[in-house]
Formats: sequence, structure tokens, C-alpha cells
Amino acid sequence: LIQEADRVRRDARIRCDVCIIGAGAAGITLAAELAEGSDLSVVLLESGGKLKDPDTQDLYRGELRGAPQYPLDASRLRFLGGTTNHWGGMCRPFDPLDFRQRAWVPHSGWPLGREELDPFYERAHAVCDLGPYDYGQDAASAAWPGVTERGARLAEEEDLEIKLVQRSKPTRWAKKYSDLLAGPDGPRVILHANAYQIVPDPTGSRVEEVDVRTLQGNRFHVSAKNYVLATGGVENARLLLLSDSVVPGGLGNRRDLVGRFFMDHPGATPFGVVLFFDRAYERLAVEEKHAGVGVFTGIGMSAAMQERERLLANAAYMYRPMDVPTLAELRWLEHPKVLDPPDLRMLEFLQALDPGRGDAKGSICWIRSEQAPNPESRVTLGSELDALGQRRVVLDWQLGELSQRTFHRAARFYAEVIARSGIGRMKVMPWLLSEEPDWWQRVAAGWHHIGTTRMAADSAHGVVDPDGRVFDVDNLFVAGSSVFPTSSYINPTLTLVALTIRLADHLKARASAGGVAAPRRAPPPSQ
Ligand SMILES: Cc1cc2nc3c(=O)[nH]c(=O)nc-3n(C[C@H](O)[C@H](O)[C@H](O)COP(=O)(O)OP(=O)(O)OC[C@H]3O[C@@H](n4cnc5c(N)ncnc54)[C@H](O)[C@@H]3O)c2cc1C
Repeated sequence: LIQEADRVRRDARIRCDVCIIGAGAAGITLAAELAEGSDLSVVLLESGGKLKDPDTQDLYRGELRGAPQYPLDASRLRFLGGTTNHWGGMCRPFDPLDFRQRAWVPHSGWPLGREELDPFYERAHAVCDLGPYDYGQDAASAAWPGVTERGARLAEEEDLEIKLVQRSKPTRWAKKYSDLLAGPDGPRVILHANAYQIVPDPTGSRVEEVDVRTLQGNRFHVSAKNYVLATGGVENARLLLLSDSVVPGGLGNRRDLVGRFFMDHPGATPFGVVLFFDRAYERLAVEEKHAGVGVFTGIGMSAAMQERERLLANAAYMYRPMDVPTLAELRWLEHPKVLDPPDLRMLEFLQALDPGRGDAKGSICWIRSEQAPNPESRVTLGSELDALGQRRVVLDWQLGELSQRTFHRAARFYAEVIARSGIGRMKVMPWLLSEEPDWWQRVAAGWHHIGTTRMAADSAHGVVDPDGRVFDVDNLFVAGSSVFPTSSYINPTLTLVALTIRLADHLKARASAGGVAAPRRAPPPSQ
């Protein structure tokens, strides 16, 4: 059932079992999971409409500081389906090491392991329209014949791992779940409904209502037994910080952790230029379709190497190669989109390799790395107000020395293994090997907002507990990549969908245990 917020009676109070704030990957997945096998009545509040509109999108504008980020009103979409309306679909589960506490990565360690998430990753595959939950851990993967073997010569390198990635269609959540959202068995979806504040009782330990406002000036309230914040990795923190009517500094923020530990995936594009000899490029740079699902491979470092050399997780990928009839003909590299600014040293190096050799392919390599959690990398509230009169967000992205060291080592390591294996030559961008103090200004962001309401085993170290519940607030949960304690190197959506499915199971179990009554499905639209 879908309705418009401006048609809800002013000051009405809508009651339900679960109120979900935000209808993106996390919010819609949660609503769909709750619609299966439970009678919980669900209200799904969505700030936008069915299409992007500039006034709503403008609520996402914010200030950027620190390392270069994409504008906040471009890296997020504020309408039904959220940022999945333009995500790229790259999916892979986090590696087991990503969940572990690592002595060389401060603030690392999840309160759950990969084994615990595996069944939810498997279910998340159906949501994200992926193939089998198989990432070719065994060289001869049954699901992806030939894909991991393509990297065999490289895989002989002890510390190199072939990283298989699946690509979702990409799934557009609003479209995929349109029947459920519009039909009688789904949630009650209210469009153009901005959660303005989450209001707790006077002790601050239980949420009593969400104060909802529209850009047209309407306002009403939603009272639920449980609330789930699913507004994305930056906005989840912003809304908690804005919800300060009872708890100074914001809900869930008694220990000043909300908004801290912001992470993205620092990257370099280009990271380097690779020349593949013969048909070696097929092993690494060609995306294949298997039963409708795109599959490609990157290269990464083994867990042993990360541990031994005290590095962050990272992986390098190649763009589809371009023809280079002879290595002498590399003028295409001068194109500003390839090398910016055109780097003639790189060009000369590659041309000198073997000027007469034919049948080569050139490819641009890019890298994405994990970022070490850093409390000073954070989301705060600025002084500028948005059209609803709320303080806009300030995002200060701070990288640390570990990222720089990881980039340096990765640059040398990947260039060496490609040369040693004989499949080609790689020339890395010189800045990656230099000691420039302002190296971080050249880093590319990954469009991924992670860590601002981190999950921890206890309230001294995080904002939410291992179930995703805000510490000290009995009935408020957070869904999305803001709960990740560390970021891995891989894109976040598959992992956040897996965690959301796990949260849905938890909410259903809580309801059966009496934490939430389950009287009816959708509350009547007349309120
Ligand atoms: C260009 C681009 C490419 C990407 N490619 C990939 C990729 O290849 N692989 C991958 O894993 N990830 C990718 N991502 C990231 C991916 O899009 C996000 O991880 C995912 O969309 C996050 O889901 P979410 O539900 O947490 O947030 P969103 O999808 O952003 O949804 C949040 C929802 O909350 C709503 N909302 C916000 N504030 C309020 C409020 N106050 N009240 C009510 N509703 C509110 C918004 O309108 C929105 O609908 C990409 C992102 C971008 C920008």
C-alpha cells in the first residue's frame, strides 16, 4: 500500500508494530522479509517520491572536509529505492579476516564472524539477484567453470589471491519489490514522509514516536513497538544526532560515538596501466556472463601477507582491455581520461618494453582498499539549515598512515606479480610510490558510506549491539553499512543486505517472544 504523506491527516498518530525509516536497499529488504512469515504491521517512511525530485534531493546536500569525497547530494539518492537507483551491482562477501580483530588495525574486529553471516549472505544473494553463493574459493569452482582458473598462473604466487566478484543486474529495489510495496500484503509505504526526529520517552531508553514532516508543511507521528533506522551510512548518524530532544548530543550518543569512524573505500583510478601479452588479459580483465550473472576477477593479497606486513585489505581490478596493435602505439594513454595529467614517463616505460611486439592489450588498473577505522573521520552537524529547518551534515573524511602504506605496498606487489607471472607488465602511477605528504588529496572515494553507528560487543566501543539495536534504547535498531565496524575492500551492499535479513529474523523472534505484539498486518490508511 503506497500513500502520500501530505494526504495523512495533520497531527495524526499512526500505530504499527515496526516503523522502518528509509526505503533503500536496507529498508525495502527489511519490509519484504517481515512480510514473509509474520503478521507484523509495518510502516515504511520514505522521504522521496517514486522519482527523483530536486527539492527532496536537496535535503541531502552537505559540507565536505578532509580527503576528497563526492558531493553528498550526488553520492546518495533520496527517493523510493534510495541509492540502489544508481548503484553498480558489484558484490562479494567480506573475507573472513575482515571480521577479525587485527592487532595492526586499531578498532578492528566485529562481534560476529563470517561463519555466522554465511547463511544470511546466501539469502542475500536472492535479494540481490546474484548467482550461487560461491566465490571460487576452490581453484576449480563448480559454479564458475574456468573463471578462477583463468588466474592460475598468478595464483601460483603465494601471497596473491584471485578475488571473484559477481555483478547484480543491478537490482533496483523499488522496481523489484513494486508489487509487494503497492499490494495488500506489504508494508504501508508513506512517500514524501521525512523522519524529522526520533522521540524517546523522558528516560531516553525507549522510542515513543517518530515525528514526520513534509516539505509542504504537513506533520504527523508514527508510534511503533520497534523502530528501524535505514536511511544510509551518513543519514543514519545525522538523524540520531538530530534526535536530541531528550538525550543531549543525540539518541544513542551518550558516549560520543555516533558519527565517528566514518569509512569509505579509498581508491586510485588509474592505479596503473597494464599491458597484457598474448591473450593473458582474458584471465583478469574480461567480465563474463554465467546464467545471466556477470562475473569478473580482481587480485588481492592473502590474509597471511596482510598480517605479516601489517597491511589493510585491498584488491586491484582491470578495466576491459583496449587494443594496442603494437606496444609502440600507446598514444591513447595520453588521453586525459586515461592519465590525468598525461604521464609521459609512464608512456615511455611501456613503449620501451618491446616496441615491436604485436597482439597486446592495454588495460587500466584500479584499486580499492579498506580504510582503518578512525574516530576523527566523522559525520557531524553543521550550522546551515535545510528546507525542513534541520542542520545539514558535515562529512570529514580522514585517512591514516596505514592507508598510505597499503597503497605503496600494493603498487609494488601487484606490478611485481604481473611481471613475474609473465602475463604482462604493469606501470603504477608514480604518486602511489612517492612520499608526498598530501597523497590523500589524490585518493578517490568509493561512493560507500560506512561505520558511523558501528556495531560492538559492548556500549563502550560502539553504537549498536550485535543485533543492530542501539545500546541503551530498547526498541531502536539500525540497518545499513553504518553498523559495519570495519569496511573490507569490497562494496558494502551484499553485506548490509545479509545483516538486514538477520535483523528481520531477530525482529520476528522478538515479536514471538512477546517483545512486539503481532495483531494485524497493515494499519488502515484512514489515519
Ligand atoms: C554511484 C554508486 C555506485 C554504487 N555501486 C555499488 C556497487 O557496485 N556495489 C555495492 O555494493 N554498492 C554500491 N553502491 C552503494 C549502494 O548504493 C549502497 O550501499 C546502498 O544503496 C545503501 O543502502 P541503504 O538502504 O543503506 O541506503 P539507501 O539506498 O541510500 O536508502 C536510504 C533511503 O532512506 C531515505 N531517507 C533518507 N533520509 C530519510 C528521512 N529522514 N526520512 C525518511 N526517509 C529517508 C532515502 O530517500 C533513501 O530512499 C554504489 C553507490 C553509488 C552512489
